[in-house]
Amino acid sequence: MFVDVHAHLDDEAFDSDREEVLEKIKEAGIMVINAGSDIASSQMSVKLAKEHDLIYACVGVHPHDAQNVQKDYIKELEELAKNSKVVGIGEIGLDYYYDLSDRETQKRIFIEQLDLAKSLNLPVVIHDRDAHQDTLDILKDSRPAKGLMHCYSGSLEMAQELIRLGFYFSFGGVITFKNAKKPKEVASKLPLERILLETDCPYLSPEPYRGKRNDPTRIPVIAKTLAELRGITVDEIKDITFANLRCLGGL
Ligand SMILES: [Zn+2]
Repeated sequence: MFVDVHAHLDDEAFDSDREEVLEKIKEAGIMVINAGSDIASSQMSVKLAKEHDLIYACVGVHPHDAQNVQKDYIKELEELAKNSKVVGIGEIGLDYYYDLSDRETQKRIFIEQLDLAKSLNLPVVIHDRDAHQDTLDILKDSRPAKGLMHCYSGSLEMAQELIRLGFYFSFGGVITFKNAKKPKEVASKLPLERILLETDCPYLSPEPYRGKRNDPTRIPVIAKTLAELRGITVDEIKDITFANLRCLGGL
C-alpha cells in the first residue's frame, strides 16, 4: 500500500471539497498521516483520523506558530495524543527561512514537544528549514525514540548522524523538480530502508502538476521519480516504503 506520511488535509485549501478528496484517496487505497501545525489543526487532524479508516494523525505545533501557543498547549497535545489513531508528534522543529516566531521561542517549543513525544513514546515528525545545525544539536541532545525528517533538505553527512539517532526521511514533490539537484542526490543515495514518501499537500505538487493544489493521490507520481532515481520498480518502492513505515511507527 502507498502511504503519504505527511499531509495537511485539514488545510483551508480543502475546505470546499474535503469529502470528495477523501473519497478519492479511499478509492486509490492510499494511507495518509495528517500532520498538525497548531492546536486547532491538531484537533482537526484527530477528527479526520477518527472519521476515516485510512487516515492517521500527528499532533503538534509548527515553528511558525511557536509564538502563539497558550500556556497549557502541551496538556492539550497530550490529551489529543490519547486517541489510538495518533501515531506521532508533529510537525515540530525550526524554520529559520521564514523566522515567523523568534528563534529562542522556536527552540523552546521544539524541545518541549520532543519531551512530550518521549514521555508518550511516540515518534516525532521534524520540520527543518535552513536550521540544520540547531535541529541536529537539539535532536542529539533530546534523543527521541524515533523520528521522521519531513521533506528532508539536509546533506548526506547530516543524514548519517540522524540515522544513528533512529531517523527516517521522507521525500515529496521536490524530487521531481528539474532544479532540485541536492534532494535528488540525497534521495538516490540514502539507505532505502530509511526512505518514505510524502506530499506535504496542499503544497509542493510534483511535476507535471507543479503550482497546482497537491493531494495524496499524487504519491504514485513521486514514487515513480524515486523508482527512477533508485533504478528499481514503483512496486518495489511501494513495498519498501510501507515496510519502513511499519518499522518507524509500528502501525
Ligand atoms: Zn508540512
